[in-house]
Amino acid sequence: MTVKERDDECKELRIQVKFGSEFNRKESFTAWVFSDNQKCSASKLAEAGFYFIGSKTEPDAVQCFLCGKSLDGWEEDDDPWQEHKKHSQNCKFAKLGKPECKLTVNQFLDIQMEVVKNWIIKRYENQKMELVIKQKMLSKLCKS
Ligand SMILES: [Zn+2]
Repeated sequence: MTVKERDDECKELRIQVKFGSEFNRKESFTAWVFSDNQKCSASKLAEAGFYFIGSKTEPDAVQCFLCGKSLDGWEEDDDPWQEHKKHSQNCKFAKLGKPECKLTVNQFLDIQMEVVKNWIIKRYENQKMELVIKQKMLSKLCKS
């Protein structure tokens, strides 16, 4: 693993930890397609775990801080919690289905722990895959 790849991994964790906060998720929606009195508002999306990752080609793309699921193509009557549960059935945050202010301290901390746990698992899987590839290359070299 290169230093840059390691930096990218750490950056990913920092982003996920940052967006573990509903306030920071809400702040990420600098321009949103629907107003705040609509069902699919920036506030409701932030409440349901999403932060803004939109671009010129996907102006309404959002991503969950915990499961990493990204969604776009939102309609004004979409319910962010329902969409989250529908598209990411194993997301622990979506399963809780509560805004941050309704979480108990233990639930909040469990979710933060889950962010770090997911990152460690992903990192482990990436390193394992790298080693498998290296092992295959070495075994090819040994045979030739
Ligand atoms: Zn999620």
